[in-house]
Amino acid sequence: MCTVTERLQALTAPGFSIEFFPPRDEPDEAVLWRSIRQLEPLDPSYMSITYGAGGSNRDGTIRSIARVATDTTLVPMAHLTAVGHSVAELRQVIGHFAAVGVRNILALRGDPPGDPMGEWIAHPDGLNYAEELVRLVRELGDFCVGVAAFPYGHPRSADLDTDTRYLVRKLRAGADFAVAQLFFEAEDFLRLRDRAAAAGSDAPIIPGIMPLTTPRTLRKTIELSGATPPSWLLDRLEPLADDPAAFRAEGLNVVTELCERLLAEGVPNLHFYTFNRAKATRELVSRLGLSPALAPVA
Ligand SMILES: Cc1cc2nc3c(=O)[nH]c(=O)nc-3n(C[C@H](O)[C@H](O)[C@H](O)COP(=O)(O)OP(=O)(O)OC[C@H]3O[C@@H](n4cnc5c(N)ncnc54)[C@H](O)[C@@H]3O)c2cc1C
Repeated sequence: MCTVTERLQALTAPGFSIEFFPPRDEPDEAVLWRSIRQLEPLDPSYMSITYGAGGSNRDGTIRSIARVATDTTLVPMAHLTAVGHSVAELRQVIGHFAAVGVRNILALRGDPPGDPMGEWIAHPDGLNYAEELVRLVRELGDFCVGVAAFPYGHPRSADLDTDTRYLVRKLRAGADFAVAQLFFEAEDFLRLRDRAAAAGSDAPIIPGIMPLTTPRTLRKTIELSGATPPSWLLDRLEPLADDPAAFRAEGLNVVTELCERLLAEGVPNLHFYTFNRAKATRELVSRLGLSPALAPVA
């Protein structure tokens, strides 16, 4: 079983990776697995499953990632947060990942349950920052570890310099790479990459990409980015809000242009949020020529 780092280092052309969330019930699980099977032949660099925000549905993450490790050819990466866990519980979850063959962990602090911007209260026997979780994962085995990065700064960071300092600290604590939160323009991501490089980190940073297929995915992108969208983006998409086909077509054009610019700047891997569906990601992978298994389309 390869690590994410090994997969990224082996790329001879730009690659892509895919993110899913854990299924809530059986019908959800069927949808998830259909999508996984539709994307598997495209040979993504890795696939990841998020860890239930605020403590929800964590068993779903653990079960699904274990099945990916045993039943597919994909390189699995489990997200893990410190929310509501003692160190002993975190050790147990990490041990479970190792036991089922998951060698890649995205180490996150997480947000307070209920209100992501509420006061962060650590578990009395738990951890305060992702940096500590990186150290714990490293200490427990031969894992490849990723961390989160924020093109506009984490919403709780006082300023971009502070944000960069803590990003570099968690990379130096033992992380191999970072995955960036959603953003609107290639330059926003490239500035993050430049800030980390200027602060002395050469760890790869992988941009997170949301296929903008519906007004909901646009709203989610705005929410997760933590930033105000540029007016050109709203001007292109908002007038199409009541025309699903036109919104989807234009949304995928916007994302294709963003990805093309990132690839032109030498970004080696694009990380797609799939929302547990394969269609839009397959379309983007095809348009961008990211998989030999899928002929590029116009
Ligand atoms: C790619 C990606 C995937 C994600 N996946 C999930 C998921 O699966 N489940 C989920 O619940 N959430 C997920 N999140 C959301 C994430 O948990 C939140 O954004 C959370 O608020 C921050 O997590 P972090 O790991 O960046 O925290 P940290 O790196 O700990 O940072 C949190 C805040 O503390 C500051 N800080 C960091 N270290 C220190 C320090 N030593 N001293 C003082 N201040 C410090 C930082 O600047 C920042 O403002 C994801 C986010 C991203 C970008």
